Amino acid sequence: MKQIRGIAASRGVAIGKLVLEKAPVPHVEKKKAENSAAELARFEQALEKAKKELSQLYLVAVEQVGKECSMIFQLHEMMLEDPDFLESVTGKILREQVCAEYAVWKAGKELSTVFSSLEDQYMRGRAADVQDICLRLLCSLDPEGFLCHARTVGEGEPCILALPQLLPSRIMRLRGDGISGVITGSGSRRSHSAILARILGIPAVVSTGPSFSALQEGETVVLDGSTGWICADPDQETLRRYRRRQKLAGEPSAALGNEQSPLRLLATAAAPENAQEALEDGAEGIGLYRSELLCLSTGEMPQEEEQFLAYKAILEHMKGKPVTIRTMDISGEINLPYLGVMEEENPAMGYRAIRFSLNHPELFRVQLRALLRASVYGELRILLPMVTTEQEILQAKEQLQQVRGELEAEKIPFHSAVPLGVMIETPAAALIAGTLARQVDFFSIGTSDLTQFATGADRANLRVAYLHDCHHPAVLQLIRAAAQAAAEAGIPVSICGEAASDVSLLGFFLECGVSSLTVPPANLGEIRSALQALQNFGDPQPLEEEEK
Ligand code: PEP
Ligand code: MG
Repeated sequence: MKQIRGIAASRGVAIGKLVLEKAPVPHVEKKKAENSAAELARFEQALEKAKKELSQLYLVAVEQVGKECSMIFQLHEMMLEDPDFLESVTGKILREQVCAEYAVWKAGKELSTVFSSLEDQYMRGRAADVQDICLRLLCSLDPEGFLCHARTVGEGEPCILALPQLLPSRIMRLRGDGISGVITGSGSRRSHSAILARILGIPAVVSTGPSFSALQEGETVVLDGSTGWICADPDQETLRRYRRRQKLAGEPSAALGNEQSPLRLLATAAAPENAQEALEDGAEGIGLYRSELLCLSTGEMPQEEEQFLAYKAILEHMKGKPVTIRTMDISGEINLPYLGVMEEENPAMGYRAIRFSLNHPELFRVQLRALLRASVYGELRILLPMVTTEQEILQAKEQLQQVRGELEAEKIPFHSAVPLGVMIETPAAALIAGTLARQVDFFSIGTSDLTQFATGADRANLRVAYLHDCHHPAVLQLIRAAAQAAAEAGIPVSICGEAASDVSLLGFFLECGVSSLTVPPANLGEIRSALQALQNFGDPQPLEEEEK
């Protein structure tokens, strides 16, 4: 029995056979290329493929881990467009006449060494991102050769992955690879990978240091992500104890029941296909369908018919359960220059969401037409993002009324009473919630944006992540104020964004009279278990905490 200590990075117990990977990016031999032009063409093709994969991955990640954590994949896409990096790779191919694989590996190594040597901890963290994009390029260049790093390892038996460093793209694949826990040699609790592991609920211990080399492929390992303790080759008593703890903590899926919950549990969605996952995970509806993501997959504003088919599909999939579709939250973060949305200094506070829609009534009406046409296929609700004034709601209602008139004239069926709601995402909206509540049928409190604006801490900036805290009394007061205004107006309130998945806030939400939570489907099980514990024992902490 070997005991190793590391940093507790993502809580939970994992037990399984160890799968050992020696390096995040495998070494590539220097090989001369006969035809540099052909190598260059191979590299360019691989680059395009990698960029496409990243935009797909971003969409998947938004669903699983939320927008802020997914931005890392947008950053990776930008890194693949970095002129210095591209010049470094192509220069090696053309001047040194080496194969594309070696050029990518070498350029990546040089750049990650530069990042690793920087003083600033945040910038040092970029070295992992360089490695990540290099591995992606290598896999695109030679999927067979680099398959070992994308291998499916689980085959039914739970596995624990040990590797020197965990890259963000890799963590997104862990569940699919049958990995139930992660150990790394280096890294920190604040790294992107550790944050992703926590959101995905994968137990992880990082930074085991020199002890990492004591781990051996195939041995049984117990990992406790709450304390940072690892036991390789455990004795029967240790195994028994930790199996019991695992059981007490409960598999999220095992916690799914039909018991009456004091809060409706709804799922987020980015595409109609997400409905299946939401239903399997026990969602009682879709609380937030981010319709702007329709633009991301094509890079264009979808036509009315395309939008109608997407909305109809998700409504039909949900079989009469409520589906809240948010009108597009387009912003400078989504690069759509052809729509006049240019890069901005402060896209989060810029020309986005309802501001953009009201400035483009011709595009807004297309979306409203598609939504109303789809409304006859299920329980649609329409949600307006980033509202800060009553005037914006009145203008949106005017557009909606106009579209209703058009559809009536064209004899196109639609539901006449589709509920209209607003997102409460700014302190301004929360503070005038009483006025807003008189104009709408429901509120959805977007706690990620609300936290960023209340604390003045950019939700995507890891350097100020310690300030971006949804527990900040200011944020809680704003939530309470909005919920109270909703209660006075007799309209329901849903919580979405990061706070919705925070089980330690469940009691607070119940006390505020919140009626539903909207979370990524993967989080539904944990929240349901915590709600049950709260009802049974009055304690929102998961059972595993008791044994500490
Ligand atoms: C939020 O801001 O909390 C929210 C749910 O919206 P988004 O993550 O799409 O900005
Ligand atoms: Mg938001």
